[in-house]
Amino acid sequence: MKLLVAGCGPAGLFAAICAARAAPGLEVTVLERDQIPMRWMGAAGKPRALTCAGLDPNLLARAYPHGSEFMHGAVQAWPPAQMLDWLRDEGIETRAEAGGVFPAPGLAGQRLGQKLLEAAARAGVRVQTGIAVAEVAASTNGFNVWMKSGPSFEADRLLLATGGRAGQTGWNIAKYFGHSVHPFVPSPVLLQTRDARAQTGVEIDVPGASATLPQLGAEATGGVSLLPSGIGGNAVLEIAARRAHELASLDYKCILEVNWVADAVTGQPTRTLRQMQQARARKIVAEDPAMDLPPKLWLKLVQAMKLPEDTRWGSLTPARLQSLAGQMAASRFKIESRAMNKAGWVASGGVPPEELDPSSMESRLHKGLHMAGEMLDVDGIPGGYNMHAAWATAWIAGTATAAACRE
Ligand SMILES: Cc1cc2nc3c(=O)[nH]c(=O)nc-3n(C[C@H](O)[C@H](O)[C@H](O)COP(=O)(O)OP(=O)(O)OC[C@H]3O[C@@H](n4cnc5c(N)ncnc54)[C@H](O)[C@@H]3O)c2cc1C
Repeated sequence: MKLLVAGCGPAGLFAAICAARAAPGLEVTVLERDQIPMRWMGAAGKPRALTCAGLDPNLLARAYPHGSEFMHGAVQAWPPAQMLDWLRDEGIETRAEAGGVFPAPGLAGQRLGQKLLEAAARAGVRVQTGIAVAEVAASTNGFNVWMKSGPSFEADRLLLATGGRAGQTGWNIAKYFGHSVHPFVPSPVLLQTRDARAQTGVEIDVPGASATLPQLGAEATGGVSLLPSGIGGNAVLEIAARRAHELASLDYKCILEVNWVADAVTGQPTRTLRQMQQARARKIVAEDPAMDLPPKLWLKLVQAMKLPEDTRWGSLTPARLQSLAGQMAASRFKIESRAMNKAGWVASGGVPPEELDPSSMESRLHKGLHMAGEMLDVDGIPGGYNMHAAWATAWIAGTATAAACRE
């Protein structure tokens, strides 16, 4: 019996390994468009979260803005702890941090992809690269699969794991078999503004800040960063992921409110500022940040109030003090557009998971056709939730195809 997997991302490769291990008689081939599979894992920059640190079923709705109900079952079937055990058994050490579970220091991304490919080779999975699936049709025994160029294939079962943003072909094949595909919406994104306070020229991270979209009644904590390409940080990325569709329908034109001191005080920090005024009356406000705010951000907040540069704490009127407190606890930015967040490039949209049997990831519309990973309309907030969705759906699809083969 033959299983063909379209796409050698985390979902496709892991499903192939699970299937081959669980059914040694099953012939498993993965077809990958790129010459080098799993290349993004080795890309420069921040390491990617491999999975999430644990998943309380009650937090699922928050962790997966789209597909939370479906993920409820998938996470029970293949929990993050089991994925971590699997990675450890393959020699992939990890470390849990605030933003998810990451490869252990020293395990370069390229090596990580290599380790997964080695695990596939040991399981007897054949990976063919530089070969793009173009078309699929049902045959008497399963599927005929044609490439953009090169040989065609026959398979008893087909797993589509062509990803989200890059996986147009997978979505087209799903449509051919009668599935609907929800439109692609980037998520999460950086929010862009022309506001001078955000133009700092360097990256500024404020881990204790929170972000609010007052129009949408959405709020998130976890830090805000001012980046050359837009406003980001965990709070903004989370809120942008949770409200991806509403933000897209507003064409990203909205107000973003940032509380730079959310972790330190509830409400406005007026009392703290009054105490500072008494203790540091002779210091120049612009040069003396309150509450450990980064000096460059502080200067921008003070400049936004149009205070004369040499204003000292002692000469601030109560109204000015109140206005400064407002800048700290409720900086309002007029957002005009978005930029892609390259550190966590995820697509909301894809095949609705309700169109699949959750116990096998098999299409409810066409027998033998399975799907996994980001080609489904499931997306998570930053923190390894997207990768876990790929692993969990792949495990279900892989073990189910193996069980079908054994039968
Ligand atoms: C730069 C970057 C950083 C990220 N960081 C994180 C993170 O830190 N934490 C997290 O949880 N998520 C992160 N994500 C998201 C996460 O990588 C995805 O959710 C996950 O990779 C989805 O896995 P997948 O296998 O479904 O799809 P993909 O990883 O997109 O893999 C799909 C594969 O299919 C191939 N393919 C597409 N079309 C065809 C075709 N016609 N024929 C053959 N092959 C085809 C593609 O080349 C690709 O290799 C990141 C994504 C990116 C791009």
